[in-house]
Amino acid sequence: MKFNRVIVWFRNDLRVKDNVTLTKAVQSGKEILPVYCFDPRMFEKTELGILKTGYYRAKFLIEAVADLRDTLRELGADLIVLKGKPEEELIKLAEKYEAQAIYFSEEVTSEERNVDNSLETNAYAKGIATESFWQSTLYHLDDLPFPVNQLPEVFTQFRKSAEKMSEVRAEYPSPISINYPGTEVIFSSGEIPKLNQYGLEESMPASSLVLGFDGGERPGMRRIQSYFWEKDLLKDYKQTRNGLIGTEFSSRFSAWLALGCISPRTIYYEVKRYEKERKKNDSTYWLIFELIWRDYFRLISKKHGDQIFQLSGIKNQMDSWRRDSADFQRWCEGKTGVPFIDANMRELNRTGFMSNRGRQNVASFLVNDLGIDWTWGASYFESKLIDYDVCSNWGNWMYVAGVGNDPRENRYFNILRQGKNYDKNGDYVRMWLPELSAIKGFDIHQPHELSTPKLKELNIELGKTYPHAMVEMEKWV
Ligand SMILES: Cc1cc2nc3c(=O)[nH]c(=O)nc-3n(C[C@H](O)[C@H](O)[C@H](O)COP(=O)(O)OP(=O)(O)OC[C@H]3O[C@@H](n4cnc5c(N)ncnc54)[C@H](O)[C@@H]3O)c2cc1C
Repeated sequence: MKFNRVIVWFRNDLRVKDNVTLTKAVQSGKEILPVYCFDPRMFEKTELGILKTGYYRAKFLIEAVADLRDTLRELGADLIVLKGKPEEELIKLAEKYEAQAIYFSEEVTSEERNVDNSLETNAYAKGIATESFWQSTLYHLDDLPFPVNQLPEVFTQFRKSAEKMSEVRAEYPSPISINYPGTEVIFSSGEIPKLNQYGLEESMPASSLVLGFDGGERPGMRRIQSYFWEKDLLKDYKQTRNGLIGTEFSSRFSAWLALGCISPRTIYYEVKRYEKERKKNDSTYWLIFELIWRDYFRLISKKHGDQIFQLSGIKNQMDSWRRDSADFQRWCEGKTGVPFIDANMRELNRTGFMSNRGRQNVASFLVNDLGIDWTWGASYFESKLIDYDVCSNWGNWMYVAGVGNDPRENRYFNILRQGKNYDKNGDYVRMWLPELSAIKGFDIHQPHELSTPKLKELNIELGKTYPHAMVEMEKWV
């Protein structure tokens, strides 16, 4: 007997609210098998010898999957957890439970697309239908005023046309219940892996300096509630978003957005409600503006395919890049001798997060001051960021490296000036570089300017307790 069953394969859409894939399955009236598949390829080492998915993002992912399972259980279903290649495991599952179709969200970059293609081929061979759905952007792909191959290469042009000619679609509500085959059919829904199964330490201390970044839809929704409504921070977002210290200067929605625990439309409609009920100003608009940037990088990645990962970028511009492992390692570890850079890199290594201001500075320093292969920097971020998003990461890196969509030539950051503008008293650097913390005020940004007796008095020995700068800092004065 054939059952009327469909598999909903959750990927970077780990939520039930505003999830088109789940909604379409519910609307089909079929029995639903919700599935998440831990793909071992996500936890392999990259060419640089670093883990593709580092500790903080792996932890966040595991939490998000557990949270989704809890929510699905409340809706009368469960989350079946598989381990292996989705293009193989999902077919086995479909055959075992005689599911006739597999629904999933469409991705845009090649690793994910290759999996989709193999899945579709394997499913076709077994007579199983597949259907993919576009989601994850604020503006739906089909609502844009141009086909993706005609996407403007300049962000402002894209934004203005999208804002003028497209509308953000309504959200899909969370389902009230899910028709699941039941435990008499599915005896075991599988165990969610532990971090140590991927060689990651369970006991890594979570820094108290970072927001309790719990993965999952419910923690993500709590963050919206707290940032918008309880702490009322949205109205000042434009003024605070370049901050460095603490958890409240920007929304911190990125990690939940990256795994799809919350949808950009949910944020958009919450902003609209805030504008009606509290205040509408530049700041409320600016959060939406940033979400449009996120859309843009996704669409650019769809348009240009694998070019976004190539050294010559989408500009096809071949510059000469250095591949000096020792210098790169100093950047990774936050030991460049440039305090503002080192503080940001250490924050990343300790928490999985770095502010947007920090990301721009460390990226500019790597590519412009050290001249090191920008793809190395992007790969390092891929491993370390809790909010790693393939399109936003590689898109932003291309931008900084001058091979992306930046209409301005030479976007160079004067690191000392950036420090002066955004960390005038040196408090941020002091927080992450304890070995320099005795230096008062802005001087902490340039320890090399202090006299030898002064440094001695503060127990600092350049070249020993803190490295000499890798570049001539005088050029920034
Ligand atoms: C070199 C570099 C690498 C980056 N890598 C990533 C990445 O892997 N994942 C990621 O989500 N963001 C990335 N960004 C963009 C940005 O730094 C982060 O989205 C932001 O710092 C996250 O903090 P937030 O959620 O508090 O941001 P907010 O300032 O509160 O912004 C709200 C949301 O808008 C989106 N957004 C904001 N700025 C950008 C931007 N420049 N590009 C794309 N989307 C943006 C994010 O989804 C963010 O959560 C990168 C930026 C640079 C310069």
